[in-house]
Amino acid sequence: MVATIIDGKALGADLRAELRNDVQRYVQQLRQPPGLVIVRVGGDAASGVYSKAILRIANEVGVQARLDQLSVNVSPEELRVALQRLNEDTSIHGIIVQMPLPAHLSQQMIAETIAPEKDIDGINPHNAGNLLLGFPGFLPSTAAAVMEILERTQTPLEGKHAVVLGRSNVVGKPLSILLLQKHATVTICHSRTTNLSELTRQGEILVAAVGHANMVTAEMVRPGATVIDVGINAKPGGGIVGDVDLESVLSVAGAVTPTPGGVGPLTNVVLLKQCIQAAWHQSRRRA
Ligand code: NAP
Repeated sequence: MVATIIDGKALGADLRAELRNDVQRYVQQLRQPPGLVIVRVGGDAASGVYSKAILRIANEVGVQARLDQLSVNVSPEELRVALQRLNEDTSIHGIIVQMPLPAHLSQQMIAETIAPEKDIDGINPHNAGNLLLGFPGFLPSTAAAVMEILERTQTPLEGKHAVVLGRSNVVGKPLSILLLQKHATVTICHSRTTNLSELTRQGEILVAAVGHANMVTAEMVRPGATVIDVGINAKPGGGIVGDVDLESVLSVAGAVTPTPGGVGPLTNVVLLKQCIQAAWHQSRRRA
């Protein structure tokens, strides 16, 4: 068997085209574009690359986005005040704070300060609670991107066994809940899981979000499974590689996302999708 390679770039392009239309409708009605602010603290190189990618996609779909670059020495109080100002600014509909943050800044403070209705990456406890309860709200964008891929590739989920490798707050945990909401039977694995291969081999859907290059090999995959590779790992000589050993898994899986070109191209587009949803919600609330 040779697996189908899921083309994340093509799926991302489809979604961007849909968002462009949605933004056009929004601008026709509201006479202003949706507004997004990326807050970056300090000079982490990876977060600089992500910020540029988000700004580029925002520009392409018509969302007015800017980067607020803060000093690495910004105090917790200064950051809190800056976020509150953005919460109160009616031209801004979505706020994201780039990670990682310097050690003196609390992720909890940031998550609690961003207004839930502008929290387009689903980090506020209010949105996390909505996710758990099955109420509408904003989702962590990577988890939402995986669901977007499964939906757009018409991967059946109901009654299927989904195995999620990783239990982080941004990927593994929210994704497990989203799969459960689609009536999959979900197994969550993590670093203390003892019989990992035995469990992963049961997955009709297998998602890898661990951050270990090429960790998932053919022996860990059920024949015909849909394998989603969330991992982004730097290669020693430059470039990136996923958590899934694509070469080996291709011979067993039914479908697999590559890295690069799989989940990554969807993540930032989903973030923009949630920004536009936030703008519509806020405009309806003010009307
Ligand atoms: P994270 O916070 O470091 O979480 C990693 C998870 O993997 C943890 O739950 C950890 O278990 C588990 N784990 C680590 N080693 C393991 C092992 N040997 N066996 C089983 N489980 C193991 O990472 P994250 O933020 O979720 O990100 C995961 C990966 O996705 C990273 O490579 C990251 O760069 C990538 N990522 C990609 C995107 C995208 O757009 N494609 C977005 C975000 C992240 P414990 O909980 O027990 O420690």
